[in-house]
Amino acid sequence: MNIDLKNLTIEKVHNSLINGEYKVRDLVDAYLAIIKEKNERINAYIEIFDDIDDQIKKAEEKFENGTATIMTGIPMAIKDNILIKGKSATSASKILKGYVASYDSTVIENLKNHNAIFLGRTNMDEFAMGSSTETSAYGVTRNPLDEERVPGGSSGGSVAAVSMYGALVALGSETCGSIRQPSAFCGLVGLKPTYGAVSRFGLMAMGSSLDQIGPTAHTVSDAEIVYKTILSYDKNDSTSVKIEERKNRLKKDKKGIIGIPKAFLEGPGIDKKVLDSFWKTIELLKNDGYKVVNIDQPLTPYALAVYYILMPAESSTNLARFDGLRYGDQIKGDNLIDTYKFSRGKGFGIEVRRRMILGAYVLSHGYYDAYYNSALLIRDALTKEIEKAFEDVDFIATPTAPTLPFKLGEKLSDPVSMYLSDVFSAPANLSECPAIAIPTGKTEEGLPTSIQITAPKWCEENLFDIGKDIEKLV
Ligand code: GLN
Repeated sequence: MNIDLKNLTIEKVHNSLINGEYKVRDLVDAYLAIIKEKNERINAYIEIFDDIDDQIKKAEEKFENGTATIMTGIPMAIKDNILIKGKSATSASKILKGYVASYDSTVIENLKNHNAIFLGRTNMDEFAMGSSTETSAYGVTRNPLDEERVPGGSSGGSVAAVSMYGALVALGSETCGSIRQPSAFCGLVGLKPTYGAVSRFGLMAMGSSLDQIGPTAHTVSDAEIVYKTILSYDKNDSTSVKIEERKNRLKKDKKGIIGIPKAFLEGPGIDKKVLDSFWKTIELLKNDGYKVVNIDQPLTPYALAVYYILMPAESSTNLARFDGLRYGDQIKGDNLIDTYKFSRGKGFGIEVRRRMILGAYVLSHGYYDAYYNSALLIRDALTKEIEKAFEDVDFIATPTAPTLPFKLGEKLSDPVSMYLSDVFSAPANLSECPAIAIPTGKTEEGLPTSIQITAPKWCEENLFDIGKDIEKLV
């Protein structure tokens, strides 16, 4: 059966499955055929699951007995740091080789309740540290829109899987831009939900005060459907927020007021083509009835520096538990400490080791106040600055990333230039606000462009509204 995967949405698929135009099996087979054709080169998936037949049967049963929901039978790709019971999960690191999850993460449990189909687990930067999916222990992932370029990262495998039509939607995770930036690089929609909206239970922790799971998809409404399926209050995640405490704010104006931190956009290292496409989209929004104002955010340019202190501090603590004793290749030393050293030294890649050393340094006696505590104070001030801006505006708009998708290898040996990829991502993670990346078309050379819209906490609904408008306008 020939299914045109290029124009599918979750809603269209659901209608076709309900009307019997095709079966879940036909749909999944169509995706598996693409994976067979493209994955060897793109390397979006690390593993295709061996229980897909069983999953299909259970989804089909739901259609037969009338209990199917909009997510039933929807083929998905799952990032390799999200636990699925009985499946391997490695965060694309050698240190977790052979680890099999003994429980489902809450997001997976939520999706299993609907019998979505998990096709496989996807490649990522090791322990989600990177912006190009080049730090994986399983090789680089290529950008399906231009195979000589990176797909972005760290959720590059999930995004590439959807972009190459090897899954309809996917889950990624964010600590600082890891869903939005790759989505921008591969022409997709990517959502970073409000911190506390989606449970982190069963997500391998990177920076615990920043991490959130979210969807990447071809359309805003697909991202919305996945988001609404995975969100829940979860007593297993102490930072999960009760549903009744999550309130979408009414917009201040019919369509909404967009604030632009203009001075921030004029900083160095921002590609002119990125800015051109950004201002073009803002013009379209103005013509559509959105009000646009300049906002002053003097602290925002410090967000990246704050992130690169807090994240290594939190991740060096989180990754301390991986010791090479229970899984991964163990390299024996003469004593326990040497065994730790050798196993961790070999099991972690260079970027992860760099960040653990940095994290241990900023947390060490004598430097704690100078670095870690100062960064916490600036995070707090920055969050207040953003909250203050939201007293007058409904949205903050910037480009999603400062550059277009770059070439494979271009930034790998220059960590600082790689870290600059996160310059527009960091404010939303630090302030816990939701933010969405929306495709805005292509440059003359055919590379995708994207706009990022941030909203106050719990205003995902407003993000979906403006996102759908942008989809229509561009
Ligand atoms: N580019 C970010 C980093 O390297 C990605 C972090 C994330 O969101 N997982 O830290």
